[in-house]
Amino acid sequence: MGREIALLQTDKGEISLNIRVSARAQRIGLRVDPRIGGAELVLPSGVSKNSGLKFARTKLDWLYDHLSALPAPIPFEEAAEVPHFGVPLMIRHMGRARSQHGPVWRENDALCVTGDPRHMSRRVHDWLKAQARTEISQRSQVWSELLDVTVNRITLRDPRSRWGSCSVGGDLSFSWRLIMAPETVLDYVVAHEVAHLREMNHSPRFWKLVDKMIPDSETPKSWLRLHGSGLHRFGATSPVED
Ligand SMILES: [Zn+2]
Repeated sequence: MGREIALLQTDKGEISLNIRVSARAQRIGLRVDPRIGGAELVLPSGVSKNSGLKFARTKLDWLYDHLSALPAPIPFEEAAEVPHFGVPLMIRHMGRARSQHGPVWRENDALCVTGDPRHMSRRVHDWLKAQARTEISQRSQVWSELLDVTVNRITLRDPRSRWGSCSVGGDLSFSWRLIMAPETVLDYVVAHEVAHLREMNHSPRFWKLVDKMIPDSETPKSWLRLHGSGLHRFGATSPVED
C-alpha cells in the first residue's frame, strides 16, 4: 500500500488523514504535522488500515482541535514573507530575465526572484538551502578550530523534529530550515553539534563546552522550543523526509 487518504467525520467537521505504512513503526501512530499541514496515521507493517482508522476514530476531538490550531502553511510565492536569520523578507518576482545577481538575491527586506514564476518556490528553497550551507559551514569551521576537532562532512536535511545531529566519524547534519531562525539559534545548534565531536553525550562536560561557545544557550534553546515547529510551515509541502 502506498500513500492513502481517509476522510473522517466528526461532530465539528470533516478531517482528512494521510495514511502511511512504515516498516520501522512499532505501533499505530497518529500525529498532526505542521509540515504537511495535516494529520497522519502511521501503520506498522502488518497492521490493517481498518485497525488504524478504528484507533484514529477514538481520537477525533484531539485530531480536530489540533488541526484547527495548526498555523496555515506559507508557500514560497509572490508577496509571501519568509524569514532569513529571523528577518522577514518579502518574496518579489522581478521578471523573467536573469539578473546580474543570479536567480535569487536579497535586497534589504525583499527576496528578489527572477525566471519562470512556476519555479519560484524551488528557487527560493534552493537559495535558502545554499545560504544555510554557507552559514553553517563557516560556523562549523570556527567552532571546530576552537575545540580542536575535525568536521568531516556537513549534510543539510529536512528532519521532522531534530535540528542537528552528528556521527562519531565527524559527519554533521542540520536542518536547512535553521537559516530562517535568528542567527543566535543557528549559532547555538552548530556549536552544540560540534561540541558533540568532543563529548558524544549531554554530560555537564558537554554543556561546559557549549557554554564556552554560546554563553547564553538557554535563549536559543527556548526559541527552538517555542518557535521551532513554526519553521516547518514555510515552503512547499514537500514529501516527508526523515
Ligand atoms: Zn546533543
